[in-house]
Amino acid sequence: MDKQKKFYVTTPIYYINDVPHIGHTCTTVIADVMARYRRLKGDSVFFLTGTDEHGQKVAESAEKDGLEPQVYCDKIAPRFKKAWVDLNIGFDFFIRTTDSRHKKVVCDLLQKVYDNGDVYRGKYEGLYCVGCEKFLTESDLVDGKCPIHPPERTIEQVEENWFFKLSKYVPQLIKLIENDKTNYIFPEGKRTEVLSKLKGGVNDISISRANVKWGIPVPWDKTQTIYVWFDALINYYSATQFVDKKKDFWPADLHLLGKEILWFHTVIWQAMLLSAGLFLPKKVYIHSFYMIDGQKMSKSLGNMISPGQLTDLFGIDGTKYLIMSSFPGENDSDVGIERFKEKYTADLANNLGNLISRVAKLSEGLSFKTEKVGVFDKKFDEFFEKFDFCGAIKYIFDKWIDTSNAELNKIQPWKLKKDDKKRVEVLEKCVKNLRKTAFHLSVIMPSTGERIEEIFEGEIKALKNPLFPRIKK
Ligand SMILES: [Zn+2]
Repeated sequence: MDKQKKFYVTTPIYYINDVPHIGHTCTTVIADVMARYRRLKGDSVFFLTGTDEHGQKVAESAEKDGLEPQVYCDKIAPRFKKAWVDLNIGFDFFIRTTDSRHKKVVCDLLQKVYDNGDVYRGKYEGLYCVGCEKFLTESDLVDGKCPIHPPERTIEQVEENWFFKLSKYVPQLIKLIENDKTNYIFPEGKRTEVLSKLKGGVNDISISRANVKWGIPVPWDKTQTIYVWFDALINYYSATQFVDKKKDFWPADLHLLGKEILWFHTVIWQAMLLSAGLFLPKKVYIHSFYMIDGQKMSKSLGNMISPGQLTDLFGIDGTKYLIMSSFPGENDSDVGIERFKEKYTADLANNLGNLISRVAKLSEGLSFKTEKVGVFDKKFDEFFEKFDFCGAIKYIFDKWIDTSNAELNKIQPWKLKKDDKKRVEVLEKCVKNLRKTAFHLSVIMPSTGERIEEIFEGEIKALKNPLFPRIKK
Protein backbone atom coordinates (compact mmCIF):
# COMPACT_ATOMS: atom_id res chain seq x y z
CA MET A 1 0.00 0.00 0.00
CA ASP A 2 1.07 3.56 -0.66
CA LYS A 3 2.16 5.63 2.26
CA GLN A 4 -0.86 7.56 3.49
CA LYS A 5 -0.85 11.12 2.19
CA LYS A 6 -1.03 13.88 4.79
CA PHE A 7 -3.38 16.81 4.45
CA TYR A 8 -3.09 19.76 6.81
CA VAL A 9 -5.83 22.38 6.49
CA THR A 10 -6.33 25.57 8.51
CA THR A 11 -8.86 28.36 9.00
CA PRO A 12 -7.64 31.75 10.20
CA ILE A 13 -7.74 31.93 13.98
CA TYR A 14 -10.64 34.22 14.73
CA TYR A 15 -10.26 37.36 16.78
CA ILE A 16 -11.66 36.46 20.14
CA ASN A 17 -13.57 39.74 20.49
CA ASP A 18 -15.70 38.99 17.43
CA VAL A 19 -19.03 37.24 17.58
CA PRO A 20 -19.13 34.29 15.16
CA HIS A 21 -20.96 35.33 11.97
CA ILE A 22 -21.60 33.93 8.51
CA GLY A 23 -18.17 35.13 7.28
CA HIS A 24 -16.28 33.04 9.87
CA THR A 25 -18.78 30.25 9.24
CA CYS A 26 -18.03 30.23 5.53
CA THR A 27 -14.27 29.71 5.95
CA THR A 28 -14.78 27.13 8.69
CA VAL A 29 -17.35 25.16 6.70
CA ILE A 30 -15.06 25.00 3.62
CA ALA A 31 -12.25 23.74 5.85
CA ASP A 32 -14.58 21.11 7.27
CA VAL A 33 -15.71 20.08 3.78
CA MET A 34 -12.11 19.83 2.53
CA ALA A 35 -11.10 17.81 5.61
CA ARG A 36 -14.00 15.36 5.20
CA TYR A 37 -13.31 15.06 1.48
CA ARG A 38 -9.65 14.21 2.06
CA ARG A 39 -10.47 11.80 4.89
CA LEU A 40 -12.83 9.92 2.59
CA LYS A 41 -10.00 9.75 0.06
CA GLY A 42 -7.95 7.99 2.71
CA ASP A 43 -5.57 10.83 3.56
CA SER A 44 -4.27 11.47 7.04
CA VAL A 45 -5.88 14.82 7.90
CA PHE A 46 -5.10 17.51 10.45
CA PHE A 47 -7.70 20.29 10.61
CA LEU A 48 -6.81 23.29 12.76
CA THR A 49 -8.91 26.25 13.86
CA GLY A 50 -8.83 28.51 16.92
CA THR A 51 -8.81 31.99 18.41
CA ASP A 52 -6.43 34.96 18.26
CA GLU A 53 -6.37 36.37 21.79
CA HIS A 54 -3.74 39.09 22.18
CA GLY A 55 -3.73 42.79 21.35
CA GLN A 56 -5.05 46.12 22.44
CA LYS A 57 -8.68 45.47 21.54
CA VAL A 58 -8.86 42.45 23.84
CA ALA A 59 -7.18 44.36 26.66
CA GLU A 60 -9.71 47.20 26.27
CA SER A 61 -12.70 44.85 26.34
CA ALA A 62 -11.34 43.03 29.37
CA GLU A 63 -10.91 46.34 31.17
CA LYS A 64 -14.48 47.35 30.33
CA ASP A 65 -15.67 44.12 31.93
CA GLY A 66 -13.37 44.67 34.91
CA LEU A 67 -11.46 41.46 34.20
CA GLU A 68 -7.83 40.49 33.75
CA PRO A 69 -7.26 39.87 30.01
CA GLN A 70 -6.56 36.16 30.50
CA VAL A 71 -9.71 35.69 32.59
CA TYR A 72 -11.67 37.58 29.96
CA CYS A 73 -10.23 35.36 27.17
CA ASP A 74 -10.98 32.17 29.07
CA LYS A 75 -14.53 33.41 29.48
CA ILE A 76 -15.22 34.18 25.82
CA ALA A 77 -12.96 31.77 23.87
CA PRO A 78 -15.57 28.98 24.12
CA ARG A 79 -17.93 31.08 21.98
CA PHE A 80 -16.14 30.14 18.79
CA LYS A 81 -15.45 26.58 19.82
CA LYS A 82 -19.09 26.05 20.70
CA ALA A 83 -20.28 27.60 17.42
CA TRP A 84 -18.19 25.07 15.49
CA VAL A 85 -19.15 22.09 17.64
CA ASP A 86 -22.82 23.07 17.21
CA LEU A 87 -22.27 23.02 13.43
CA ASN A 88 -20.71 19.55 13.53
CA ILE A 89 -17.35 20.92 12.36
CA GLY A 90 -14.80 18.11 12.64
CA PHE A 91 -11.69 20.08 13.63
CA ASP A 92 -8.83 18.10 15.15
CA PHE A 93 -7.44 20.85 17.38
CA PHE A 94 -8.60 24.25 18.60
CA ILE A 95 -5.61 26.51 19.19
CA ARG A 96 -5.63 29.56 21.46
CA THR A 97 -2.73 32.00 21.16
CA THR A 98 -2.66 32.39 24.96
CA ASP A 99 -1.62 28.73 25.21
CA SER A 100 1.85 28.73 26.78
CA ARG A 101 3.03 26.10 24.28
CA HIS A 102 2.14 28.42 21.41
CA LYS A 103 3.88 31.34 23.11
CA LYS A 104 7.07 29.33 23.39
CA VAL A 105 7.10 28.47 19.67
CA VAL A 106 6.46 32.16 18.84
CA CYS A 107 9.47 33.24 20.92
CA ASP A 108 11.71 30.58 19.42
CA LEU A 109 10.70 31.52 15.88
CA LEU A 110 11.15 35.24 16.48
CA GLN A 111 14.53 34.58 18.07
CA LYS A 112 15.59 32.70 14.93
CA VAL A 113 14.49 35.61 12.75
CA TYR A 114 16.44 37.97 15.03
CA ASP A 115 19.57 35.78 15.03
CA ASN A 116 19.32 35.71 11.26
CA GLY A 117 19.78 39.50 11.26
CA ASP A 118 16.27 40.27 10.05
CA VAL A 119 15.15 42.39 13.01
CA TYR A 120 16.30 45.93 13.81
CA ARG A 121 15.22 48.79 16.04
CA GLY A 122 13.48 51.67 14.32
CA LYS A 123 11.02 54.46 14.75
CA TYR A 124 7.46 53.96 13.65
CA GLU A 125 5.56 57.02 12.61
CA GLY A 126 2.22 56.64 10.96
CA LEU A 127 -1.37 55.59 11.24
CA TYR A 128 -2.64 52.59 13.11
CA CYS A 129 -6.15 51.14 13.18
CA VAL A 130 -6.98 49.75 16.62
CA GLY A 131 -9.96 47.95 15.06
CA CYS A 132 -7.76 46.03 12.60
CA GLU A 133 -4.78 45.95 15.01
CA LYS A 134 -2.85 46.95 11.94
CA PHE A 135 -0.49 49.68 10.75
CA LEU A 136 -2.14 51.39 7.82
CA THR A 137 -0.37 52.04 4.56
CA GLU A 138 -1.40 54.58 1.89
CA SER A 139 -3.33 51.92 0.00
CA ASP A 140 -5.36 50.96 3.08
CA LEU A 141 -6.74 54.45 3.59
CA VAL A 142 -10.02 55.93 2.47
CA ASP A 143 -10.23 59.65 3.30
CA GLY A 144 -7.20 59.18 5.53
CA LYS A 145 -8.94 56.58 7.74
CA CYS A 146 -9.44 52.83 7.95
CA PRO A 147 -12.51 52.17 5.80
CA ILE A 148 -13.68 49.18 7.88
CA HIS A 149 -13.79 50.77 11.32
CA PRO A 150 -15.18 53.98 12.87
CA PRO A 151 -12.83 56.92 12.08
CA GLU A 152 -11.75 57.37 15.73
CA ARG A 153 -10.14 53.90 15.61
CA THR A 154 -7.48 55.29 13.24
CA ILE A 155 -4.81 56.87 15.43
CA GLU A 156 -1.43 58.56 14.92
CA GLN A 157 1.33 56.40 16.25
CA VAL A 158 4.92 57.39 16.99
CA GLU A 159 6.93 54.64 18.66
CA GLU A 160 10.31 53.03 18.88
CA ASN A 161 9.68 49.46 17.71
CA TRP A 162 11.38 46.37 16.44
CA PHE A 163 11.16 46.03 12.69
CA PHE A 164 11.22 42.97 10.46
CA LYS A 165 13.14 43.22 7.17
CA LEU A 166 10.17 42.32 5.01
CA SER A 167 11.65 44.20 2.03
CA LYS A 168 14.66 41.87 2.01
CA TYR A 169 12.39 38.96 1.03
CA VAL A 170 10.45 40.76 -1.69
CA PRO A 171 12.66 39.71 -4.65
CA GLN A 172 12.56 36.10 -3.47
CA LEU A 173 8.78 36.19 -3.06
CA ILE A 174 8.28 37.73 -6.50
CA LYS A 175 10.42 35.03 -8.06
CA LEU A 176 8.60 32.34 -6.15
CA ILE A 177 5.15 33.52 -7.16
CA GLU A 178 6.13 34.16 -10.77
CA ASN A 179 7.73 30.75 -11.24
CA ASP A 180 5.14 28.87 -9.26
CA LYS A 181 3.51 26.18 -11.33
CA THR A 182 1.27 24.98 -8.53
CA ASN A 183 -0.41 28.35 -8.18
CA TYR A 184 0.08 28.47 -4.49
CA ILE A 185 -1.93 31.67 -4.29
CA PHE A 186 -5.37 30.81 -5.60
CA PRO A 187 -7.49 32.07 -7.35
CA GLU A 188 -5.40 33.61 -10.09
CA GLY A 189 -6.83 37.12 -9.58
CA LYS A 190 -5.43 37.21 -6.06
CA ARG A 191 -2.04 35.95 -7.23
CA THR A 192 -1.82 38.83 -9.71
CA GLU A 193 -2.96 41.31 -7.05
CA VAL A 194 -0.23 40.20 -4.63
CA LEU A 195 2.42 40.19 -7.33
CA SER A 196 1.65 43.72 -8.50
CA LYS A 197 1.60 45.04 -4.94
CA LEU A 198 4.97 43.38 -4.27
CA LYS A 199 6.41 44.96 -7.41
CA GLY A 200 5.08 48.34 -6.31
CA GLY A 201 7.55 48.33 -3.43
CA VAL A 202 7.17 47.12 0.13
CA ASN A 203 8.40 48.65 3.40
CA ASP A 204 9.72 46.81 6.41
CA ILE A 205 7.12 46.27 9.10
CA SER A 206 7.04 46.98 12.79
CA ILE A 207 6.61 43.72 14.71
CA SER A 208 6.47 44.94 18.27
CA ARG A 209 4.52 47.40 20.37
CA ALA A 210 5.72 49.51 23.27
CA ASN A 211 2.33 50.44 24.68
CA VAL A 212 0.39 47.23 24.31
CA LYS A 213 0.87 45.16 27.44
CA TRP A 214 -1.44 42.27 26.47
CA GLY A 215 0.86 40.28 24.27
CA ILE A 216 3.89 38.02 24.26
CA PRO A 217 7.02 39.90 25.46
CA VAL A 218 9.80 40.25 22.87
CA PRO A 219 12.37 37.63 24.00
CA TRP A 220 15.34 40.06 24.10
CA ASP A 221 13.42 43.21 25.06
CA LYS A 222 10.78 42.77 27.73
CA THR A 223 9.65 46.40 27.41
CA GLN A 224 7.91 45.48 24.16
CA THR A 225 5.28 42.92 23.20
CA ILE A 226 5.15 41.05 19.91
CA TYR A 227 2.74 42.53 17.37
CA VAL A 228 -0.47 40.52 17.53
CA TRP A 229 -0.40 39.55 13.84
CA PHE A 230 3.14 38.23 14.03
CA ASP A 231 2.12 36.12 17.02
CA ALA A 232 -1.16 34.94 15.44
CA LEU A 233 0.24 33.78 12.09
CA ILE A 234 2.66 31.47 13.85
CA ASN A 235 -0.28 29.40 15.18
CA TYR A 236 -0.32 27.43 11.94
CA TYR A 237 3.19 26.23 12.61
CA SER A 238 3.12 26.12 16.40
CA ALA A 239 0.19 23.69 16.60
CA THR A 240 2.14 21.15 14.57
CA GLN A 241 4.98 21.45 17.08
CA PHE A 242 3.02 20.74 20.24
CA VAL A 243 -0.06 18.75 19.26
CA ASP A 244 0.70 15.06 19.56
CA LYS A 245 2.39 13.48 16.52
CA LYS A 246 1.71 16.40 14.20
CA LYS A 247 5.34 17.51 13.73
CA ASP A 248 5.46 16.06 10.22
CA PHE A 249 2.32 17.91 9.22
CA TRP A 250 4.20 21.16 8.53
CA PRO A 251 4.04 22.70 5.94
CA ALA A 252 0.29 23.33 5.74
CA ASP A 253 -1.24 21.92 2.60
CA LEU A 254 -3.99 24.49 2.58
CA HIS A 255 -4.54 27.82 4.34
CA LEU A 256 -8.11 29.04 3.87
CA LEU A 257 -8.98 32.70 4.38
CA GLY A 258 -11.10 35.65 3.38
CA LYS A 259 -9.73 38.35 1.10
CA GLU A 260 -9.30 40.97 3.86
CA ILE A 261 -6.26 39.11 5.22
CA LEU A 262 -4.67 38.21 1.89
CA TRP A 263 -1.48 40.26 2.40
CA PHE A 264 -0.70 38.84 5.83
CA HIS A 265 -0.97 35.27 4.57
CA THR A 266 0.66 35.50 1.17
CA VAL A 267 3.48 37.95 1.90
CA ILE A 268 4.22 38.59 5.58
CA TRP A 269 3.73 34.99 6.71
CA GLN A 270 5.81 33.67 3.82
CA ALA A 271 8.65 36.11 4.54
CA MET A 272 8.62 35.14 8.23
CA LEU A 273 8.93 31.48 7.28
CA LEU A 274 11.72 32.16 4.80
CA SER A 275 13.61 34.07 7.46
CA ALA A 276 13.12 31.29 10.02
CA GLY A 277 14.24 28.69 7.47
CA LEU A 278 10.93 26.80 7.45
CA PHE A 279 8.94 25.33 4.57
CA LEU A 280 6.23 27.48 2.99
CA PRO A 281 2.57 26.41 2.92
CA LYS A 282 1.64 24.60 -0.27
CA LYS A 283 -1.52 26.49 -1.06
CA VAL A 284 -3.32 29.59 0.13
CA TYR A 285 -6.92 29.84 -1.00
CA ILE A 286 -8.66 33.19 -0.68
CA HIS A 287 -12.41 33.56 -0.86
CA SER A 288 -14.60 36.64 -1.20
CA PHE A 289 -17.38 37.90 1.08
CA TYR A 290 -21.07 37.44 1.60
CA MET A 291 -23.18 40.48 0.91
CA ILE A 292 -26.44 40.49 2.82
CA ASP A 293 -29.36 41.54 0.60
CA GLY A 294 -27.09 43.70 -1.53
CA GLN A 295 -25.28 45.37 1.40
CA LYS A 296 -21.96 44.84 3.08
CA MET A 297 -22.40 42.95 6.32
CA SER A 298 -21.73 45.21 9.30
CA LYS A 299 -22.51 45.57 12.97
CA SER A 300 -23.80 49.10 12.44
CA LEU A 301 -26.28 47.99 9.76
CA GLY A 302 -27.44 45.22 12.09
CA ASN A 303 -27.49 42.73 9.21
CA MET A 304 -25.04 40.17 10.61
CA ILE A 305 -26.15 36.57 10.23
CA SER A 306 -24.96 34.17 12.93
CA PRO A 307 -24.45 30.44 12.49
CA GLY A 308 -26.97 29.76 15.27
CA GLN A 309 -29.62 31.75 13.43
CA LEU A 310 -29.10 29.50 10.39
CA THR A 311 -29.08 26.17 12.23
CA ASP A 312 -32.32 27.15 14.03
CA LEU A 313 -33.99 27.55 10.65
CA PHE A 314 -32.29 24.96 8.46
CA GLY A 315 -30.66 22.42 10.75
CA ILE A 316 -26.93 21.69 10.72
CA ASP A 317 -26.71 20.01 7.33
CA GLY A 318 -29.15 22.45 5.74
CA THR A 319 -26.97 25.33 6.93
CA LYS A 320 -23.81 23.79 5.53
CA TYR A 321 -25.56 23.13 2.23
CA LEU A 322 -26.70 26.76 1.96
CA ILE A 323 -23.25 28.08 2.88
CA MET A 324 -21.56 25.92 0.27
CA SER A 325 -24.09 26.36 -2.52
CA SER A 326 -23.86 30.16 -2.25
CA PHE A 327 -20.13 30.09 -1.60
CA PRO A 328 -18.35 33.42 -2.32
CA GLY A 329 -15.44 32.21 -4.45
CA GLU A 330 -13.78 34.74 -6.77
CA ASN A 331 -16.67 37.16 -6.39
CA ASP A 332 -18.80 38.29 -3.48
CA SER A 333 -21.99 36.32 -3.07
CA ASP A 334 -25.27 38.02 -2.29
CA VAL A 335 -27.39 36.10 0.21
CA GLY A 336 -30.26 36.72 2.60
CA ILE A 337 -32.48 34.78 4.97
CA GLU A 338 -35.47 34.89 2.60
CA ARG A 339 -33.42 33.58 -0.31
CA PHE A 340 -31.90 30.90 1.92
CA LYS A 341 -35.46 29.79 2.76
CA GLU A 342 -36.36 29.61 -0.92
CA LYS A 343 -33.24 27.65 -1.78
CA TYR A 344 -33.66 25.25 1.12
CA THR A 345 -37.27 24.57 0.09
CA ALA A 346 -36.49 24.18 -3.62
CA ASP A 347 -33.29 22.09 -3.43
CA LEU A 348 -33.59 20.13 -0.22
CA ALA A 349 -37.24 19.89 0.88
CA ASN A 350 -38.71 19.59 -2.62
CA ASN A 351 -36.10 18.22 -4.96
CA LEU A 352 -33.85 15.89 -2.96
CA GLY A 353 -36.21 15.34 -0.01
CA ASN A 354 -39.18 14.38 -2.19
CA LEU A 355 -37.06 12.07 -4.32
CA ILE A 356 -35.86 10.21 -1.25
CA SER A 357 -39.33 9.74 0.22
CA ARG A 358 -40.82 8.83 -3.15
CA VAL A 359 -38.22 6.19 -3.94
CA ALA A 360 -38.28 4.80 -0.39
CA LYS A 361 -42.06 4.48 -0.46
CA LEU A 362 -42.18 2.85 -3.91
CA SER A 363 -39.35 0.45 -3.02
CA GLU A 364 -40.66 -0.50 0.41
CA GLY A 365 -39.73 -4.09 1.23
CA LEU A 366 -37.31 -4.38 -1.70
CA SER A 367 -33.56 -4.63 -1.45
CA PHE A 368 -31.26 -3.98 -4.37
CA LYS A 369 -27.77 -5.29 -4.81
CA THR A 370 -26.22 -1.89 -5.44
CA GLU A 371 -22.79 -1.47 -4.00
CA LYS A 372 -21.78 1.10 -1.44
CA VAL A 373 -19.99 3.98 -3.15
CA GLY A 374 -16.46 4.65 -1.90
CA VAL A 375 -14.75 6.59 -4.67
CA PHE A 376 -15.43 10.12 -5.85
CA ASP A 377 -16.54 10.79 -9.39
CA LYS A 378 -13.67 12.25 -11.45
CA LYS A 379 -15.61 15.33 -12.50
CA PHE A 380 -16.50 15.99 -8.87
CA ASP A 381 -12.79 15.84 -7.99
CA GLU A 382 -12.08 18.39 -10.70
CA PHE A 383 -14.56 20.84 -9.19
CA PHE A 384 -12.91 20.38 -5.80
CA GLU A 385 -9.44 21.00 -7.20
CA LYS A 386 -10.68 24.39 -8.39
CA PHE A 387 -12.55 25.11 -5.13
CA ASP A 388 -15.68 25.31 -7.28
CA PHE A 389 -18.11 24.11 -4.64
CA CYS A 390 -21.21 25.50 -6.37
CA GLY A 391 -20.14 23.60 -9.49
CA ALA A 392 -19.64 20.40 -7.49
CA ILE A 393 -23.10 20.68 -5.91
CA LYS A 394 -24.75 21.44 -9.24
CA TYR A 395 -22.99 18.42 -10.71
CA ILE A 396 -24.47 16.11 -8.03
CA PHE A 397 -27.96 17.49 -8.59
CA ASP A 398 -27.77 17.30 -12.40
CA LYS A 399 -26.19 13.89 -12.59
CA TRP A 400 -28.04 11.89 -9.96
CA ILE A 401 -30.98 13.78 -8.50
CA ASP A 402 -32.58 15.52 -11.47
CA THR A 403 -32.11 12.50 -13.75
CA SER A 404 -33.75 10.24 -11.18
CA ASN A 405 -36.73 12.57 -10.88
CA ALA A 406 -37.01 12.75 -14.68
CA GLU A 407 -36.86 8.94 -15.05
CA LEU A 408 -39.52 8.46 -12.41
CA ASN A 409 -41.79 10.95 -14.11
CA LYS A 410 -41.24 9.23 -17.45
CA ILE A 411 -41.74 5.62 -16.32
CA GLN A 412 -44.35 6.40 -13.65
CA PRO A 413 -43.64 3.24 -11.65
CA TRP A 414 -46.55 3.95 -9.29
CA LYS A 415 -48.86 3.04 -12.19
CA LEU A 416 -47.11 -0.31 -12.74
CA LYS A 417 -47.51 -3.60 -10.88
CA LYS A 418 -45.10 -4.33 -8.01
CA ASP A 419 -43.16 -6.97 -9.97
CA ASP A 420 -43.18 -5.17 -13.31
CA LYS A 421 -39.65 -5.32 -14.75
CA LYS A 422 -39.66 -1.67 -15.77
CA ARG A 423 -40.78 -0.60 -12.31
CA VAL A 424 -38.05 -2.59 -10.56
CA GLU A 425 -35.43 -1.34 -13.02
CA VAL A 426 -36.20 2.33 -12.60
CA LEU A 427 -36.29 2.03 -8.81
CA GLU A 428 -32.98 0.20 -8.75
CA LYS A 429 -31.45 2.96 -10.86
CA CYS A 430 -32.81 5.63 -8.51
CA VAL A 431 -31.45 3.81 -5.46
CA LYS A 432 -28.05 3.59 -7.12
CA ASN A 433 -28.15 7.31 -7.87
CA LEU A 434 -29.21 8.14 -4.33
CA ARG A 435 -26.36 6.15 -2.83
CA LYS A 436 -23.94 8.04 -5.08
CA THR A 437 -25.58 11.27 -3.98
CA ALA A 438 -25.22 10.20 -0.33
CA PHE A 439 -21.50 9.59 -0.67
CA HIS A 440 -20.71 12.80 -2.53
CA LEU A 441 -22.97 15.01 -0.44
CA SER A 442 -21.60 13.55 2.78
CA VAL A 443 -18.55 15.82 2.57
CA ILE A 444 -20.92 18.76 3.02
CA MET A 445 -23.82 17.11 4.84
CA PRO A 446 -22.37 14.18 6.79
CA SER A 447 -25.52 13.21 8.73
CA THR A 448 -27.70 13.43 5.63
CA GLY A 449 -25.27 11.23 3.69
CA GLU A 450 -25.35 8.65 6.46
CA ARG A 451 -29.14 8.79 6.71
CA ILE A 452 -29.66 8.26 2.96
CA GLU A 453 -27.23 5.35 3.01
CA GLU A 454 -29.12 3.77 5.94
CA ILE A 455 -32.42 4.01 4.09
CA PHE A 456 -31.21 2.41 0.88
CA GLU A 457 -28.41 -0.01 1.78
CA GLY A 458 -30.52 -3.04 2.79
CA GLU A 459 -34.20 -3.74 2.80
CA ILE A 460 -35.87 -0.44 2.08
CA LYS A 461 -38.39 1.05 4.47
CA ALA A 462 -40.66 4.01 3.81
CA LEU A 463 -39.70 7.16 5.74
CA LYS A 464 -41.60 8.10 8.88
CA ASN A 465 -40.38 11.69 8.82
CA PRO A 466 -39.03 13.76 5.92
CA LEU A 467 -35.26 14.31 5.85
CA PHE A 468 -35.72 18.03 5.32
CA PRO A 469 -38.70 19.32 7.30
CA ARG A 470 -40.48 22.30 5.81
CA ILE A 471 -39.64 25.68 7.29
CA LYS A 472 -42.20 27.08 9.68
CA LYS A 473 -43.36 30.46 8.40
ZN1 LIG B 1 -9.60 49.00 10.78
